[in-house]
Amino acid sequence: MVFKILQIATFNILMIGTFYLAFKKAKKIYQNIKLGRESKSDDNTGERIKNMLLIAFGQQKMFQNMIPALLHLCLYIAFVITQIELIEIFMDGAFRSHRILYHTFHENSIFNFIYTTTISFIEIGSVLAFIATIAFLSRRNLLKLPRFTKPEMIGWPTKDANLILIFEIYLITCIFSMNIADQAMYMNENGHGYGFLVSGFLAPMFQNLPNTVLEIWKRLGWWGHIIGVFGFMLYLPHSKHLHILLAFPNTYLAKLTPKGQLSNLEAVTKEIKIMMNPDTAFVAPAEADAAPVKFGAKDVFDLSQKSLLDAYTCTECGRCTSACPANQTGKKLSPRKIMMDTRDRLEEVGRNIDANAGKFVDDSRSLLDYISVEELRACTTCNACVQECPVLINPLDIIMELRRHLILEESNSPDEWNGMFANIENNSAPWQFSQQDRLKWEEN
Ligand code: SF4
Ligand code: SF4
Repeated sequence: MVFKILQIATFNILMIGTFYLAFKKAKKIYQNIKLGRESKSDDNTGERIKNMLLIAFGQQKMFQNMIPALLHLCLYIAFVITQIELIEIFMDGAFRSHRILYHTFHENSIFNFIYTTTISFIEIGSVLAFIATIAFLSRRNLLKLPRFTKPEMIGWPTKDANLILIFEIYLITCIFSMNIADQAMYMNENGHGYGFLVSGFLAPMFQNLPNTVLEIWKRLGWWGHIIGVFGFMLYLPHSKHLHILLAFPNTYLAKLTPKGQLSNLEAVTKEIKIMMNPDTAFVAPAEADAAPVKFGAKDVFDLSQKSLLDAYTCTECGRCTSACPANQTGKKLSPRKIMMDTRDRLEEVGRNIDANAGKFVDDSRSLLDYISVEELRACTTCNACVQECPVLINPLDIIMELRRHLILEESNSPDEWNGMFANIENNSAPWQFSQQDRLKWEEN
């Protein structure tokens, strides 16, 4: 009895502690994202839901490359359907019961069929996920695909990717240990198993083991799995694997405008409208009184909340970097690094706020300490990175905002560009000719 109470208490303390810490971190991430400028996304709800269902839930963009897509799908399905068995595992832990759903309802043949089919489906999914995990580990560590070995992947990002795959193998091993030992014991007691497809096939091989050994094996599998799940919940917010959850809001909130359409700076647009239309010139004095407008972004506060959500959603898959013409031609720019740097700076800002009683204290740093001018200038604004991203992340938005800041706030542009800017300002064209001379070419 004491042992039972101890087990219930241990499980519930671990569960409450894990949910509390995971919730705290989730709240912090939300607060960090809210540091950005508000982004508008209340239009065309139907289109947004469709994007979310097709791209986040249906993995549509992954299917541009069939083999990795199928492997990823195995992992994804296994992850989603395992949550069903997890509900029962949580209930068993909270009440220290054993297969509470099965033993409560197994007299009902319809329930029995649904239960056995579901667990069998989970087991098949887990076997496929196991194979996919081994393939992914080999791809990263043996085949060393170029996109996984770029400079920004050195150190923690590669460890993080491997760690989560090893974690996956650990969870699958635990769940099979639990199911095989449980089924072998059930066979010994009842002359037949539960009917689960994979563990039911393997269990007879272990039926001759003493029940005490099977019981210990089953419990080790159960505790190993649940501790793994708690660990995963705590690890997830610190890892690139946060995309498992954030891909949904991110695809919902993604821009619906055509990819090549860059957003205009409102202040500049107003200025030009006034210039072009003398009738509105009277607005100018009033405008002059308004608070000075900031052009572009220097730090994460100046980026849109969607860009900050993008940074947390990035899976670090490197598809964007592989497609980037600047990166392909040996330039320093990697759109994946842009996303990783934004996330790192945002986390740094978040820690600063926590350390200073909820207020950001100037640390004389900015996102430009992470992303160099050389990287920003290398972008051709081709949108290939945006096109390739499987979760609708837009690295170009961040690049453009930082570049706007460099040019409009710091006049930090190459000499070749400065001449062109001066011409646009004076002649409304990139050439050195005055507007009056526009049609002179006709005279020759
Ligand atoms: S838009 Fe810029 S960062 Fe993106 S792929 Fe093109 S050159 Fe690379
Ligand atoms: S931005 Fe998209 S494509 Fe690029 S690494 Fe992140 S998830 Fe992959």
